Amino acid sequence: MSIELIKELSDAFGPSGFEDEVCEIVKRELKDFKNLEEDTLRNIRCELKQNSGKYTVMLDSHLDEVGLMVQAIKPNGTMNFVTLGGWSKISLPGSKFNLKNTDGKLIESIVAIKPPHFMSSKEKEADISISDMVLDCGALDDKELKDYYKLKIASPGVPASKCKYDEVKQRFLGKAFDCRIGVATQIEVMKRLKDKELNIDVVSAFSSQEELGARGIQNNVEKINPKLAICFEGAPSDDTFMESYMVQAALNKGPMLRHIDATMITNPRFLKYTIDLANKLNIPIQEGVRSGGGTDAKFIHIKDIPTIVIGIPVRYIHSSYGFVTLHDYKAAVDLAIALCENLTEEIIDTF
Ligand SMILES: [Zn+2]
Repeated sequence: MSIELIKELSDAFGPSGFEDEVCEIVKRELKDFKNLEEDTLRNIRCELKQNSGKYTVMLDSHLDEVGLMVQAIKPNGTMNFVTLGGWSKISLPGSKFNLKNTDGKLIESIVAIKPPHFMSSKEKEADISISDMVLDCGALDDKELKDYYKLKIASPGVPASKCKYDEVKQRFLGKAFDCRIGVATQIEVMKRLKDKELNIDVVSAFSSQEELGARGIQNNVEKINPKLAICFEGAPSDDTFMESYMVQAALNKGPMLRHIDATMITNPRFLKYTIDLANKLNIPIQEGVRSGGGTDAKFIHIKDIPTIVIGIPVRYIHSSYGFVTLHDYKAAVDLAIALCENLTEEIIDTF
């Protein structure tokens, strides 16, 4: 059940600003929850029916994924593009993308660069930029691109990756685990809290446009005005790049709790409470000190709302493919459930 949902969320088309398909999945899964609503930014909010005016804990994950958008059409039928979210430009050439056309159909296109045969030796050595790349769906000219493929400027795109699950190793390979693995975690947490009596109220926020600077969350915070927040994220896994002593988000070692990233110093009291709780309950976690990165928490914690980020390690985040494990997903669910079951207004007051 969770496995199929994770695959469906990974495959869903949802670059920043075009989260509609992901929204439909979330609304279908959480249709029985109280006050389920969607706003024009494509944020979704809902809450537990047993909420009764106690301190509100907000759960958050973001619906969007990194993608591309057609900027201009060339007479030869190829397309210039801009990125939606942070891509490493060297990961783009050779990748296949699905562009959504005016009929809502997905058109496979590749990110192409000039073949080596036509490059001067200087060009072969040069640092390639996005303006040297084009999207190409095979159209022979601009007329065919517009009339037959129905692509135009502003057509959005995401990697044309289909999620696969390895049942033996319990690992997923697919796109958009930042943040669809977080969305899947949050859906599962809501379902498991559905009939629980808690000492706090729980409200769910699913936010749009995180990859463009955490835009959707700002309306969610204003609308929900919580006392405390738990963000679920896909966290960049570092276990294939770093010296072992520097690895803080290895695959299959549990979610990573960050003490700091480029946008937040995590409330040390809330973080310590969470780490102690995880240790007490034998829920695997990893701790991180990050010099880069940022999340929706950026706009939550500055509103006097202690916030932690439960980051599920994803190898090769912000590219066309990534790996994530069922083990880390399950540990993230367990940790969030444990927090919701153990937190009280008195504990929150100590943060
Ligand atoms: Zn993210």
